[in-house]
Amino acid sequence: MKVAKFGGSSVSNASQIKKVLDIVNEDPERKIIIVSAPGKRHKDDIKTTDLLIRLYEKVLNNLNYQDKKKEIIQRYADILEELNMEKTLLTTIDETLETIIETLKEQPPRLYDALLSCGENFNAQLIASYNNSKGYKTTYLSPKDAGILVTDLPQQAQILEEAYDEIYKLRDIEGKIIIPGFFGVSKHDFIVTFPRGGSDITGAIIARGVKASLYENFTDVSGIYRANPNVIKNPELIEEITYREMRELSYAGFSVFHDEALQPLYKHRIPVVIKNTNRPQDKGTFIRHERDINNKNVIIGISCDKDFTVINIKKYLMNRQVGFTRKVLGILEDYNISFDHMPSGIDSISIIMRTSQIKNKEKDVLNAIRKKCDVDELSIEHNLAILMIVGEGMNKVVGTANKITHALAESNINIKMLNQGSSEISMMFGISVEDADKAVLSTYEYCYHGICLKNLCKSK
Ligand code: ASP
Repeated sequence: MKVAKFGGSSVSNASQIKKVLDIVNEDPERKIIIVSAPGKRHKDDIKTTDLLIRLYEKVLNNLNYQDKKKEIIQRYADILEELNMEKTLLTTIDETLETIIETLKEQPPRLYDALLSCGENFNAQLIASYNNSKGYKTTYLSPKDAGILVTDLPQQAQILEEAYDEIYKLRDIEGKIIIPGFFGVSKHDFIVTFPRGGSDITGAIIARGVKASLYENFTDVSGIYRANPNVIKNPELIEEITYREMRELSYAGFSVFHDEALQPLYKHRIPVVIKNTNRPQDKGTFIRHERDINNKNVIIGISCDKDFTVINIKKYLMNRQVGFTRKVLGILEDYNISFDHMPSGIDSISIIMRTSQIKNKEKDVLNAIRKKCDVDELSIEHNLAILMIVGEGMNKVVGTANKITHALAESNINIKMLNQGSSEISMMFGISVEDADKAVLSTYEYCYHGICLKNLCKSK
């Protein structure tokens, strides 16, 4: 049995929905379908989920929200119209939105989640009803009826382990099942959403729950590229990648597949394939527990994320002082800041974190470190980018770091920091934001084509 999830652009209008259902109906193994809310139909369009956020903001500020509500209803009206379907669903949509607003307007975080869930919820109902009208037995199931029982913290839903037994029972339902992505229901009966992009997480939970043989994640690209296609022209597609590699790459900016979606799949080794709704014949990228490693694919991908801040601390004889790092990290904990890397020397440590973590707390954190840790030097640097070189094969071959540093040096890029964990699955290079794209280009060209960026420039 396969579970297939279709992202926002795959279900954004009638012709996309028809493509989706052709894919679904052609394969009897594709039994459970997870859908997103209608996404962008063109570059300047607005996702339904974002329209719902605007509606929420109007309600929150006690403003007239009717226009915003109409815009949302219109998205579904357009789809129904193009599919030649009856418009009765529109009344349900209108009533549901009004009921949610009425009952939850005094509880903003609950209101937010309940409104946002509507995007996928209405779409799932619409698509199931259309597939039935075409003669394919299809059941719409709300996340509650599907057994997606989650924790209660708004926008941070996490599946409860006990939910999986209930989800397993979905196997017994005849015909196709369509479930809205992006949210579950808590024990207190509140709708709770996953983080943005969370329909991938729903798909993963269902795939694990029903012990699917494959989780197909359909989107608008034919798989995962080795590097960002906005930086590299026509980068190669990855044929297969491991869960761990995928996690490292999504951490550093690869956004095709939600990183939280790997968690339910990893333990039970359920393979994932990223496929293109517009080109279903393309093989796509498989995410698996293991992959074949050969000379050419030691490095699976290269990514660079730009939004980091680093706190640099120097203290003479730091290595001999017991508990120094604990004190510093305790301060970060007091300010609820999570950090990402901590390269160190004998008398220095650098603590790297996402800029959003320390925003508005910077002064207080630095003051606290100065006060409590008796440091010799303390500085903070913004505009740090993290270049990640990822590949399971790196622990078996010699010379990868050499390749990377060579490529960066030839492009005149200064490495401010570097870090490699003992698993040798990734290497992290801290560089300046201005060098980020150049670093991806130069390491990509050198690692995959043996071309130095310096030579590239010369030959132009
Ligand atoms: N509709 C939600 C979002 O835009 C969830 C998803 O599409 O995965 O974030």
